[in-house]
Amino acid sequence: MLYYSTNKLSPPVNFRDAAVTGIAPDKGLYFPENIPVLPHDFFKQLKSKTKAQIAFEVISPYVGNTIAKEDLFAICAETVNFDFPLKKITESIYSLELFHGPTMAFKDVGARFMSRCLSYFSKGSDKKITVLVATSGDTGSAVANGFLDVKGVDVVILYPSCKVSKIQELQLTTLGKNISALEVQGTFDDCQSMVKQAFSDEALNQQLSLTSANSINVARWLPQQFYYFYALQQWPHQLTPVVSVPSGNFGNICAGLLAYFSGAPIKHFIAACNSNDVFSNYIVNKTFIPKTAEATISNAMDVGNPSNFIRLLELFAHNHKHVKEMISNCCVSDSLTAETILEVYKKHNYLLEPHGAVAYKGLQSYLELHPNQKGIILETAHPVKFDDVVQKIIKNKIEIPASVEYLFKLEKKSSVIKPEFKELKDFLLAKN
Ligand SMILES: *Cc1c(COP(=O)(O)O)cnc(C)c1O
Repeated sequence: MLYYSTNKLSPPVNFRDAAVTGIAPDKGLYFPENIPVLPHDFFKQLKSKTKAQIAFEVISPYVGNTIAKEDLFAICAETVNFDFPLKKITESIYSLELFHGPTMAFKDVGARFMSRCLSYFSKGSDKKITVLVATSGDTGSAVANGFLDVKGVDVVILYPSCKVSKIQELQLTTLGKNISALEVQGTFDDCQSMVKQAFSDEALNQQLSLTSANSINVARWLPQQFYYFYALQQWPHQLTPVVSVPSGNFGNICAGLLAYFSGAPIKHFIAACNSNDVFSNYIVNKTFIPKTAEATISNAMDVGNPSNFIRLLELFAHNHKHVKEMISNCCVSDSLTAETILEVYKKHNYLLEPHGAVAYKGLQSYLELHPNQKGIILETAHPVKFDDVVQKIIKNKIEIPASVEYLFKLEKKSSVIKPEFKELKDFLLAKN
């Protein structure tokens, strides 16, 4: 399988090169030259397959011969070695819980898969790979955790001081080993622009082999397809489900669409957005206009210029009519998100967090217009990750699971730096 750049100015590359470089030299995103169709038997036998088997069969054609089959199977098995339960909330709405991984957010799957691929690709090379990542919270902890103890790879995380939640900060700063945390006295945008500058700094790139770990990277994007097959594996109805995906950078929903084009029986998608919704304008006016992101309570979706939007257009060969037939838009305000959390908690005794609540509201509204359908929301994080917001809404305490309680006993280790590129550069050069 080869990947072309969405800007069409760089040559196509295989999975290995796409994963190691992240972004194409012409700054386009890598996109598979064709979408593999899964055999009919795959779906007939879906219910009896293990999670590792499903992952392996789905990802194999994308990886091609760049990873030996036995090694790829082992990578898949390690990536998905936790649960993905589908829970019933109402007669027509189910929740696929994607927060049972080590950092309690769905980004664990992509980060775990990517880290193992990079480790595999760095074998035999004496040059270490340095993964640079700017985070507003969830990405950094999933990446840090995914790369912990991975040989041949160092991770440097930049996060904005005082702007991530307590649990998120502990997840970033207590790992040590090959993970360094830089606490930047600035905003997330400062972190991101410092990282961008690092990738274009010649002196730095001569000394270090730098790569990025955001969802632009195919090794993080493609494994997100697995969720959709795990949902279908547990789906108890004959009726084909509608799937509602809480969307920010549109990586997750584009992975779902890959699964759909591979043959996964999904009736329709809902791109559930908070007030940073740029998709609705595309659906209504056929034009994509990026916005400046504003802060909401579902902050992992505060994205005004979704980087994977171009992949969505590629998936439908830029055919607006087809996009519109397959995906519905919705825009859920903070007050509606809060109302939804409270309503679902009181009526159905199920605790959503803000991102899942946006997806729930999107699906609920869709089902009001399509009463004969049933659907699935992707619940992308554990409520405890957003406990300050959620506790205020439900006026009740959330119990801290044992899997994060231990964090509070660990020591935070970070280097505080000013939001200046020179400070990052000096840190990276001194580390080497
Ligand atoms: C990253 C994230 C999202 C958005 O996913 P995209 O792939 O960027 O659309 C939704 N929910 C949570 C909890 C996240 O961390």
